[in-house]
This record gives sequence, structure tokens and C-alpha cells, in this order.
Amino acid sequence: MENQEQKSEYTGKLFLIVGPSGSGKGTVIERIKGKYSGFAYPVSYTTREMRNGEEEGGSYHYVSKEKFEKMIKEGEFLEYAVVHSDNYYGTSKKDITEPLKRGAVVVREVDIQGFNSIRNLVPKKNLVSIFMKVSDMEDLKGRILRRGKISDEELEKRLDSAKKEMAQAGECNYQVENKWGEIGDSVYHVEKIILAEIKSLY
Ligand code: 5GP
Repeated sequence: MENQEQKSEYTGKLFLIVGPSGSGKGTVIERIKGKYSGFAYPVSYTTREMRNGEEEGGSYHYVSKEKFEKMIKEGEFLEYAVVHSDNYYGTSKKDITEPLKRGAVVVREVDIQGFNSIRNLVPKKNLVSIFMKVSDMEDLKGRILRRGKISDEELEKRLDSAKKEMAQAGECNYQVENKWGEIGDSVYHVEKIILAEIKSLY
């Protein structure tokens, strides 16, 4: 963000969905998106491979490391991070700030590093963070494995990141426990939080 003056131009609210990989953030956002088409759902950039069932422009724009690094140099990211020690992930500055200036409700998932960067860039009154908790590490391991084939090394990296992320859960404004098989409840809780928080916007 360029300066304080610009920050104060925001009239919208950014909802950051945080939590370990496999905690259900993506599914919750998909369900909210299906119901609230008027909210903005910025598409992040990543250098990771596309998974089965994913498509360009869904949750991500899939770009090469070279392209990502060019975008960093050109100042196109609000924040970016290396996640699980290998791939870049980044939120586009304009895709977040423009809707916030128009007074829109913006919903995006990021890892804990993204949350830590954005909390220093977007004023508190325009930012709401929701941490998706998992019941335990075994449950999380099962979920990650069910999402598709990954190497033991990749699994270890994700579980390691998850432990670090869980330790910061208390720093988010809200925590929602996503119990296995109860995604509907999690969506309901996240939806309730968003609706309560945006009452003041309308
Ligand atoms: P996945 O590879 O499972 O889609 O995502 C890996 C992690 O990167 C997840 O925790 C996800 O929330 C996070 N992530 C997705 N988009 C962004 C982004 O734009 N910035 C940051 N910092 N993390 C992101």
C-alpha cells in the first residue's frame, strides 16, 4: 500500500480466511461465493502446479517463477510469500485495493505469512480475519491426503506449516473449528461472521 492517505480511502471490508492447508478454507469460500455473488473474490497468483479439478483463474492464476518474480519487481503484489518452503503465492494489489475503495466486501484465503503482511497494510476497521481450525493433526493429515497424490516430503512440509499456523490462531479476530464431515456448520459460522461484520457498511 502506498501511503496512509490511500489506506483511509477504503470503505469496504476484507475478510481473510486463514488456517492450515487442508483446513477447508477453499471449500468455505466456494460455498460463500455460490451464495453471495456480489462480494469480490480476488484470484491470487501461484507458481505451484495446477491440481486435478483446478482451472486457470479459479482460485489462482498459475504462473512461472520468472513471471512471478517480474511481478514482484513491478510492485504488483499487496503481499506474497513462499509457502511450504517451495512455491510463491501472492495477492494482487489492485484486485484487493480497488474493491476496498469501492466499498465492496472482499473475501480471500491466505497463509499465515499473508495474514501477517496484510494486517500491517490494511487498517483494522477494514480487515476481519477468520482462522479455520482443525480438530487434530491426524484429521488434517487425512484431509490433505484425500485431496490428491502428494509426496511424503510434501506432506511433511504441509504438516510442519500447519503446526506453525495453528500457534497463531489466537491472533485472528475469529476462530471457526472445521470438524470433519461438518463443512456446512463451518460455512454457516463464517457466513454469520461476515453478515454481522458488514451490517455497518450498508
Ligand atoms: P494450496 O497450494 O493448498 O492451494 O495453498 C497453500 C497455502 O497457500 C494455503 O494455506 C493457502 O491459503 C495459501 N495461499 C493461497 N493464496 C495465497 C496468497 O495469495 N498469499 C499467501 N500468502 N498465501 C496464499
